[in-house]
Order: sequence, then C-alpha cells, then structure tokens
Amino acid sequence: MQTQLIFDTKATLGEGPVWSAKSQTLFWIDILEKRIYAGAKIIAQLDKYIGCLSLRPNGTLLTALSDGDGSSSLVNLQVDSSQQSVLATMSESATNRFNDGKCDPAGRFLAGTMAMNESDPTGALYSFDGRQVTKLFGGVTISNGLTWSPDHKTFYYIDTPTRKIQAFDYDLATGQIANPRVAIRIADTLGWPDGMTSDTDGNLWIALWGGAQITKWNPQTGKLLEQIPVPALQTSSCIFGGKDMNELYITSARKGMGEENLKKYPLSGGVFKVETKATGMPTFEFT
Ligand code: CA
Repeated sequence: MQTQLIFDTKATLGEGPVWSAKSQTLFWIDILEKRIYAGAKIIAQLDKYIGCLSLRPNGTLLTALSDGDGSSSLVNLQVDSSQQSVLATMSESATNRFNDGKCDPAGRFLAGTMAMNESDPTGALYSFDGRQVTKLFGGVTISNGLTWSPDHKTFYYIDTPTRKIQAFDYDLATGQIANPRVAIRIADTLGWPDGMTSDTDGNLWIALWGGAQITKWNPQTGKLLEQIPVPALQTSSCIFGGKDMNELYITSARKGMGEENLKKYPLSGGVFKVETKATGMPTFEFT
C-alpha cells in the first residue's frame, strides 16, 4: 500500500475529515487556522476555532466552534451565505476548545473538548440530538478520535494522553453509553492515538500523532494488524471514502514540529490517500 499526497495544503492542524458520498468530496478542517476545506479548496474562513464538523442532508454543515474566551457552541453554517445559527451552547472553561467529533449512526452529533494547554483534564464529551445536549463524561485531557462498530453497539473513544482506546456499550436508541473498558493500549514507541475510524470488519484505523503512520487494530484482541507509513510526522485523523469506500483519507499537521522535523517531513500539513483492502464505515450525517 502506497500512501500518496493529494492536497499539499501545509495545514497548521489539519483534522476532522468527513466524506460526502453524495458529492464524492472530502471535507476537512484546519482547527487553528479556523478554516473549512472541500478537497484542496478553502470554503470557509471562520473567526472562531473549529473543532469538528458534520455534513447535513440539506447541504449545510454542523460545526463545533470555540472563541477561546468561554463560548463553545454548536453552530449550523450555510457555507454559500456564511450564515450561522447557534443550535446549542456548552458551559465550558474559557481555556477549553472543541476538538474531535462526529455523528453517530442515528444522526446525533458527538463532540469533545480539551484545554488549550493540552494538559488540564478539563475536557468533556458531549452528545447533541438536535434538541438537547447531554454531557457523556468529563475529566478528559485531549478528547479525540471516536467511532462505532459495524453493528453500532460499541462506541470507541480516545483521550490521547492515556494512549488507550476505550470501548463502551452504545445504545443507539437513546445515545447512552455504559460499561467502559480498555480495548487497545498503544505502545509509547508508536506515537499518540489521535483520530480514528472503523471498517466493516470491525477493525479500527487509528492515526498516530508523532508516529508518521496510520495503524489498523482489532479491538476484540487489542492486536496491531497493520501499519501504514505516512510522510507526515503528525498524522491526525483518517476517514474512508471513494466510490468503493476502500480509500483511506488522512489529515496531518505542521504545528510545533521545529525546523529539523519540517525538513525531514516537508509534506506535513497535507492530506494523503491510500487504497486499502478494507471497506470503510460511511460518514454519518447530522439529521
Ligand atoms: Ca484530533
């Protein structure tokens, strides 16, 4: 499997890839530059940090925005008119911002927060069903990757500094989680677990920040199945796309790398693609 650069965008913190099956387009964000991309094109420049987004069937986007001054909200964004409407506001510390999030298979939006200093455990994970926000849990340091098993009965979650992937029973009817346990432990030498997605076999594809790779794991056994090298040190997230849903799209970041590492990994901040033998789970939309 050969990883290829598809967008040489040099993002500061490329993240949050979602695949639109309808338009066969990859949407993704640069959190720190407050930008939304469709493919290689910037389609929105915001004035707040954007932690993640979801597609909506009506063509608008659900975005998780933080102004770095105490306001963290879920906002509907109409890209063409730049019209924004606030759907929900979280009571969050002024030093927190939204980080990774995505929709569950029933169309709820789950999004987590983190302290901007990346070390205080003041983050939380929220679930939004279109009417009300439920705080699933707090005490998170860097709320990151999340995904579901193919039968939608298990929810997987990453708080990056723990280097663990947690599994929960997931009640798709209510959005409640239960029975937390550790599914995977990531060795220090591999990197930090960041964004994640799942395939139809039930395996997890996890971006390893600082590890220049995407890894494939069996969450039933906790075993590492495959390593895909990426020519960017800080691989941040991944999502399946393409006509046959077998292409893995990978985001990356340049932030905090230093001159030497940027010279070694000049494509950092780009978006990469690799063909796999797996079929990915679809990107769920906010309904
Ligand atoms: Ca992330």
